[in-house]
Amino acid sequence: MSVTTPAPHGSEREASTRHPMVGGLPITIEPVSEPLSDAVRRERMREPGFGRVFSEHMLTIRWTRDGGWQDASLHRYGPLVLDPATSALHYGQSVFEGFKVYRGADGSVAAFRPEANAERFRASSRRLCLPELPVDVFVDAVDLLVAHDHEWVPTAPGHTLYIRPLLFASEPELVVRPSEECLFVLTAFVAADYFPRGLTPVSVWVADHFVRAAPGGTGAAKCAANYAAGLAAQAEAAEHGCDQVVFLDAVERRWIEELGGMNLLFVYGGDVPRIVTPELTGTLLPGITRDSLLTIARDLGYAVEERRISVDEWEADVRSGAMTEAFACGTAAVLTPVGRVRRGDAQWTIGDGGTGPVTASLRERLLAVQTGAAPDPHGWLRRIEPSEALRP
Ligand SMILES: *Cc1c(COP(=O)(O)O)cnc(C)c1O
Repeated sequence: MSVTTPAPHGSEREASTRHPMVGGLPITIEPVSEPLSDAVRRERMREPGFGRVFSEHMLTIRWTRDGGWQDASLHRYGPLVLDPATSALHYGQSVFEGFKVYRGADGSVAAFRPEANAERFRASSRRLCLPELPVDVFVDAVDLLVAHDHEWVPTAPGHTLYIRPLLFASEPELVVRPSEECLFVLTAFVAADYFPRGLTPVSVWVADHFVRAAPGGTGAAKCAANYAAGLAAQAEAAEHGCDQVVFLDAVERRWIEELGGMNLLFVYGGDVPRIVTPELTGTLLPGITRDSLLTIARDLGYAVEERRISVDEWEADVRSGAMTEAFACGTAAVLTPVGRVRRGDAQWTIGDGGTGPVTASLRERLLAVQTGAAPDPHGWLRRIEPSEALRP
């Protein structure tokens, strides 16, 4: 006896098209009536930079303390109209996320670990007293946006569609307390490689005076304020000729934490490479790239240690030759080697200052999974079909 899957009844299909939902929440869908031509879109996507060239749709969901999540809508990308008293603009009650949608060699489109970002978005929201968007609403919203802007997922090597979820206090009232109204905004932009020099190693400046996060603070939350707090240190790094800043712990100013927007991993060479990375103490952002690379490192048979590591140890281990490589990782740049470190007048070069073999192999392996060129044993890719395929 042959088994076949019955096609959905016409009426069921019509119902799902007429009453679309995101995670059980009704949503209004108003696709742009005249999408850009292929030629114009391709021209815009050619040199996208970072966060400049957005796709044609956006998705918004309102939240109120009395009514919960409501008014979900997919519509044309465009400006928000905000009252000058909008709470988030004054008090920074605002969190965001970032992850990428990749196009595979076969033309298929997949988001990398969106469920993990949905969970982290909830954790960040909790810390900032914002409402927690359910994971299924988050993931369905991403599917819907990418389905409608499928053509915006680049085919150019290294280019991706970067997804930016945002949640902020939208209540127009300036009493200092958790907002009674919030707005979730989901947009997508075309991203070239964040570091245009590709795998060219970066130099880093160790911040001895500025701190990014203190125990009990918001270091583990992906919130707007953390980025504002890091800008002065980043400017100091630039003044000293360095590309990025390394933050130390706020209490002892000894333990390495992370960069302004990327986690740090260290490689001790030898027959079996050993990967060391600062443990998640609550003042570090738990990066999904960090987690993915540690998983891949274990799959490759490397030793992995999550523990505290001091900046003095960093210098000593590089000078003795024990530490052979170091790299930074995050969604935007994926994985970037660190070539040179400066702390005050001291300076040390890691390995030969170039890209080491362990760094290169981890990067290649992760990119291969992300683009579908290698097997995906951990189920990290979530495939998304174009919206026409959803229509009857
Ligand atoms: C987003 C972010 C990272 C990297 O996280 P990924 O999930 O890997 O993109 C690291 N540090 C900070 C401070 C961040 O905001």
